[in-house]
Amino acid sequence: MKVLRALLICSLTAALSAALSPPKKAAHPDIFLVTIDTLRADHVHCYGYRSIQTPALDGLAQDGIRFTQAFTPSPITNTSHTTILTGLLPSSHGVTDFAVPLASTHPTWAELLHAHAYHTAAFIGAVILDSKTLAPGLNRGFDFYDNFPEHAQTKSRWGRVERRGMDVVLRAEAWLSAHPQEPHFVWLHLYDPHDPYEPPAPYSQIYQDRLYDGEIAYADSALANFIGYLKKHGEYENSLIVVVGDHGEGLGEHHEDTHGIFLYDSTTHVPLILKLPGETARKGKVVEAQVRTTDILPTVLDLARVTAPRKLDGESLRPYFTRNDTDAAERIAFGETDYPLRFGWAPLRSVRTQGRKFIEAPRPELYDLHADAAELNNQYEPWNRQVKNLRGMLAELRAKAPPPAPSQGVVGQGTIDELKALGYLGKADVGSATNVPQPSLLPDPKDKIEEQNLLHLAMIASEGDRAADARRSLEKVLQLDPKSPTALRQLGELELRAGDYVNSAQHLKVALEVRPDDATAAFYEGQALEKTHDLPGARDALEASLKLMPGQFEARLLLGQIYLGLKNPHAAEDQFEAALLLQSNSIEGQLGVAKAQVAEGNFNQAAQQLESLSKSQSTNAALFELLAQAYTGLGKNVEAEKAETRAKLLQSQK
Ligand SMILES: [Zn+2]
Repeated sequence: MKVLRALLICSLTAALSAALSPPKKAAHPDIFLVTIDTLRADHVHCYGYRSIQTPALDGLAQDGIRFTQAFTPSPITNTSHTTILTGLLPSSHGVTDFAVPLASTHPTWAELLHAHAYHTAAFIGAVILDSKTLAPGLNRGFDFYDNFPEHAQTKSRWGRVERRGMDVVLRAEAWLSAHPQEPHFVWLHLYDPHDPYEPPAPYSQIYQDRLYDGEIAYADSALANFIGYLKKHGEYENSLIVVVGDHGEGLGEHHEDTHGIFLYDSTTHVPLILKLPGETARKGKVVEAQVRTTDILPTVLDLARVTAPRKLDGESLRPYFTRNDTDAAERIAFGETDYPLRFGWAPLRSVRTQGRKFIEAPRPELYDLHADAAELNNQYEPWNRQVKNLRGMLAELRAKAPPPAPSQGVVGQGTIDELKALGYLGKADVGSATNVPQPSLLPDPKDKIEEQNLLHLAMIASEGDRAADARRSLEKVLQLDPKSPTALRQLGELELRAGDYVNSAQHLKVALEVRPDDATAAFYEGQALEKTHDLPGARDALEASLKLMPGQFEARLLLGQIYLGLKNPHAAEDQFEAALLLQSNSIEGQLGVAKAQVAEGNFNQAAQQLESLSKSQSTNAALFELLAQAYTGLGKNVEAEKAETRAKLLQSQK
């Protein structure tokens, strides 16, 4: 009886509220995109993994449509997110590396919806998607894009390079509360499952032996918070919600610890769940056909009745849930990764049908996915008919791809440091697949994966201030490949920071023999040699570095000092002037110029410069010391003595 009464009240309230609130316009539902970083499909509970609790994802799947066979074309965050947001393959949208700007000719999800009066906002969980530095153009069409602060207040990785999922979610909820006007398009990026695996309590305890799973369970709890917010504000039922992984994680399969190098299912098979607005009929539907993350945007535009751009590499998934999915034509999933090029190894391309995968590599691979889902038994033979077919598809794709953009992204040192903090190699001047003449002549990444794992470990260790661990990993790389330019450079940098300048210079010298165009390695070498008092050596290294990359402010300053030490004030002045062209109000640069002028006997100019500078630098001891020298040179002994006294006083107050 009680139950019946409760039911009655429920349906009464529902009927009442339906009568009171006007029906929602189905044409423009609220749309929420949640991307969960580094999320393998087979580590989610509703995908059959029983060792984890992911109630939020499971609940969405129950209320929506779960795609069991969804694939990303890229195992790298920027590239795969750009694909989700444009519906284009990496070779079409061109964002195949960090910091490559998304060309304005490719409309984004946010732009397309913004043109239909959507209020748009994005909340990111890592600097890897920061539109000011590593992901320029991804913010297009967003009214608000929650970038990271330019000068982080904290040394901790949280808030500087990464945000916890709950932080991302709360920021999104605050924005929604402050911008109640519908319709919304909000994108949330939960970075947590990306390594290093450091879930907060209680997930760190519950999953202490499987911290990757702990991160996923934690990200799921953040998602639960967001779903709870939508339900509480009555926005859940009528919204379209998309949850997708940007790529998976190797977890040691094919010897790959993390992701980025290979194109096996371990890093390309992702969960994809779609909850339709106001839908009840297709609740809990499961689609087993192979689909791609390029299909997401066309589906959303289709459901929101927004005209799709002319060129898209994906297609709406609607046929799979409105008709019987067995009728729909097979969708081919392409894969592309240029990340191996950062290490000097061959880029990879792949093509996946429902039953086969072909990977184009220096040693190509073919797998029968029905018999060999783990992709362990390579059946490649060049004359194989299937190989010819699949290779033909890749050739067709290549022929369709637009020519590469002439200028790649310019990556500053700060950005390189951020990349490293996230475990990615920050060298951006190696080239891309499109400008390497013959990628097939480069080493096969299969032969290099142990090195990559060690290099990755070393980067994460350096970031965590564990220099000894980093050194051990890098030395192991050198045992595998004594000429690994990446390991040599990293080791050189590590010893430079540790104060072992002789060893640092030695490693960097070998690194530069292998890769003479590495401007950053040459800069490090210059710093190390200067510390060992090899001034001519330091000069040559810095000149070489600046020839490759002229806009390095710190390198200009250091070279100026070195020329002073080499008693070449004229050349020193040129370097300080060049530094001031890069940062016009640098005190160090201005003092450098004055120092060079004093050394040249150009006392009058130096004194004038220093006098004007002293107004804003009244407590700079070095400045008054230099001013005293200039006055002495001019024979102004009284002024010289005064400046000298001032300098001594300031020195003693330090
Ligand atoms: Zn990612």
